[in-house]
Amino acid sequence: MAARLRRQTARRLRRKAPYLDEVDPELAEELHGRLARRGYGSLADRVFDVKLVDVCQCCDRSCAGFYAIGRFHLVWLWRHRRETVDLGSAPVMRVDVMNDRIVAVEVFERPELRRMLRDEGGRG
Ligand SMILES: [Zn+2]
Repeated sequence: MAARLRRQTARRLRRKAPYLDEVDPELAEELHGRLARRGYGSLADRVFDVKLVDVCQCCDRSCAGFYAIGRFHLVWLWRHRRETVDLGSAPVMRVDVMNDRIVAVEVFERPELRRMLRDEGGRG
């Protein structure tokens, strides 16, 4: 069941980006709460519009980070203006924001989400 969902998620990730809220509603709620508590009310509401577009390619094995826009666009936009909002620890969460939009989410110690993001399908 879980493996099947993972394969479907990976397939959808390539074809059509799923919403974070569909894939990991618990994380969406957590991000929403942490943003709201820090006074980022309008960003908090946008958590439910965040899609899993691309996988973070860093070397941290506990990382379940992802991009909410295509990496090509991100690299291009990065030269302009962005802000990293630190959302605390246990576990560590950060979001990168450009033009009042969440463009990347850094989250660790979320093995199930990490597997869903990275599973290319056809295995397991
Ligand atoms: Zn990462």
